[in-house]
Amino acid sequence: MTIRTALQEATTALERAGVENAAANAEWLMADVIGCSRPALPLHWAKPLELAQIQRWQSLLTGRTNRIPLQNILGTAQCCGLEFEVNRSVLVPRPETELLAEAAWAVAAVKESAVVLDVGTGSGCLAVAVAVHAKETIVHALDVSPAALNMARANAERHGVADRITFHEGDALRALPSVGLFDVIVSNPPYIPSLEIESLQVEVRDHDPRLALDGGADGLDFYRSLARHGLSRLQPDGRLLLEVGDGQAGAVVELITAQGGRVLEVLPDLNNIERIVVASADNS
Ligand code: GLN
Repeated sequence: MTIRTALQEATTALERAGVENAAANAEWLMADVIGCSRPALPLHWAKPLELAQIQRWQSLLTGRTNRIPLQNILGTAQCCGLEFEVNRSVLVPRPETELLAEAAWAVAAVKESAVVLDVGTGSGCLAVAVAVHAKETIVHALDVSPAALNMARANAERHGVADRITFHEGDALRALPSVGLFDVIVSNPPYIPSLEIESLQVEVRDHDPRLALDGGADGLDFYRSLARHGLSRLQPDGRLLLEVGDGQAGAVVELITAQGGRVLEVLPDLNNIERIVVASADNS
């Protein structure tokens, strides 16, 4: 079987299994099996797969037709131009979160030695991307899951920023780390209303950790808590930057305003959905 035929068959199988972007998924898996980049695949189309490659290919493909996310099969995800290790203990980074990371490092980079807190760090993608792009920042990263913190630590080491990130184990709904005031608090908290989790895409519902998805009955539990406990932990010119779910921006703006915060901007994502809420504690 040539690589081209294997790709064609796999695309059909993935489409039948309900996988979105079936052809692209087949290509990512094949690129991993034969050890080349995805754009280089056409150079290999006419070649046959070797026996060991066929076995690996079939095993990866079975995983994907069973709707295991591509990133969990490969063990890595791309975010902000960096490769992150991921596993079942952490939310796979999404493209929207890159916008949040960029907004956070843009604020941090213009301050001298900004202190940043990432609430619910998961894979560490936000904490690490901010530390990499704003070179003098000191980052604190909080997560309730020890397994997620291990992954985040590994990612901080992988990108050479472990010496600037302190990891804290704790529940964001109870307390934020008591290490003074922050220049930036950034968070992509769990925001799916509990009862909506069952209707999510299989990849998300069955493979992302519930802890990283479930935002309580209306999905807003973490925003309530961050408005109540986060605004008071900001420096006078500090910023709270939050990713929000589709349709949640208005409610999050209200929660922040009700706690005396001031919303400065609501930024759209690439699909023009209001996605990032930027606030300060100053309501003057
Ligand atoms: N963005 C994720 C999704 O919609 C949800 C992650 C979250 O709750 N922060 O699949």
